[in-house]
Amino acid sequence: MRKPLIMGNWKMYKTVPEAVRLVKQLKVMLADTVDVEIAVCPPFTALQAVGEVIKGSALKLGAQNLFWEKEGAYTGEISPEMLTDIGVDYCIIGHSERRAYFHETDADVNRKVKAALAAGLGVVMCVGETLEQRRAGLTQRVVEEQVTNGLAGLEVSQADKLVIAYEPVWAIGTGENATGQDAAEVIAMIRRVAAGIVGEEIAAEMRILYGGSVKPGNIKEFMAQPEIDGALVGGASLDASSFAQIVRYN
Ligand code: PEP
Repeated sequence: MRKPLIMGNWKMYKTVPEAVRLVKQLKVMLADTVDVEIAVCPPFTALQAVGEVIKGSALKLGAQNLFWEKEGAYTGEISPEMLTDIGVDYCIIGHSERRAYFHETDADVNRKVKAALAAGLGVVMCVGETLEQRRAGLTQRVVEEQVTNGLAGLEVSQADKLVIAYEPVWAIGTGENATGQDAAEVIAMIRRVAAGIVGEEIAAEMRILYGGSVKPGNIKEFMAQPEIDGALVGGASLDASSFAQIVRYN
């Protein structure tokens, strides 16, 4: 049985006091949630403070990026070990904003995924097609390639901490969302491709999320699809009551 995961990606929003205020509200609002795993991904600067607030609660802590080396002369970078050191549970890797603005390639994503899993972090690897690719009928091909390249050479023994998020780029932050059925079809394909790499057993247990303009008003449509195991939520995770409504979609 795959336990749904609903993760808030706070992107480059929230100062430390703002992040602490938001997570304190969520901690109260979501205290009795047992059927959904919840994670919040504040910016690096707020990870430790948010981690202090959620200590002892069911809320999990996620980062939004990392670098694949353990340590070294890599000015401005953060290693997987530095994240586990402060109690981080998950890391988002290969978000489309990192691919678009920071030129992350599938090969970079692959190195990050492997380094994060080796350090014991849970990974949420993001894949998804652009609007041009979708219009050209390339969705399946592009996403298949991102999954294949992103997971290339993965140690099967580490794959149990792997989560994939299908996030069509045209749906992120735009208010446009895929239909539940469209997303479920791509996610079913992702599971088949992942099974070819990590094996049927692990792929059957792997959570695959949808992300792209998820809101309180559309979460039910996604969660009604048996293939969809949760959501990666951007904009709507910045407000406690909208994120809490999404988590309580039932
Ligand atoms: C995201 O940042 O992963 C995302 C899905 O953003 P939004 O929910 O704002 O579309």
